[in-house]
Amino acid sequence: MLDNYMQQTLALELIKRKARITLMQEATGLPKKWLRKTFREYHGFPARSGDNKQSIQALTRTNKQYKEATAFAVCYRHAQLIVDQSDIYKAINAFDALKTMHPASRLSFSETDVIIKELIANKIELTRCPVCNCWNLLRARMDQVERCGVCKACLKN
Ligand SMILES: [Zn+2]
Repeated sequence: MLDNYMQQTLALELIKRKARITLMQEATGLPKKWLRKTFREYHGFPARSGDNKQSIQALTRTNKQYKEATAFAVCYRHAQLIVDQSDIYKAINAFDALKTMHPASRLSFSETDVIIKELIANKIELTRCPVCNCWNLLRARMDQVERCGVCKACLKN
């Protein structure tokens, strides 16, 4: 159990990254009322509430979105290598790494949660393109044909 100082520190890190109230409440154990109030004070607009019902396919509609989701998955894989860190800080570090590499990325923190859950459940999978060696995310797109997001080569035979 986190002490109150650690709870609030984590909450502020999540608020900065515009996490959803539900996720923040689960991660910190702090009351939703406090989280909402602090979010509004920090950003000047209210937090989005409710669960994140987005699917991975909704995050990969365009090739640009697909490449951002793939880049995040690579960042998360790196963050996972730091074993003595809690899952929520791994998510924060991966998100920050993505924003450092791709400052124009539109992927939101709550959207990255969808990618993390699918990765952990092995529903999606990182693989390298056999032709250009770029990372790709298998089973993350609507279409059945898995082509490399960079060179368009077929990823599976
Ligand atoms: Zn390729």
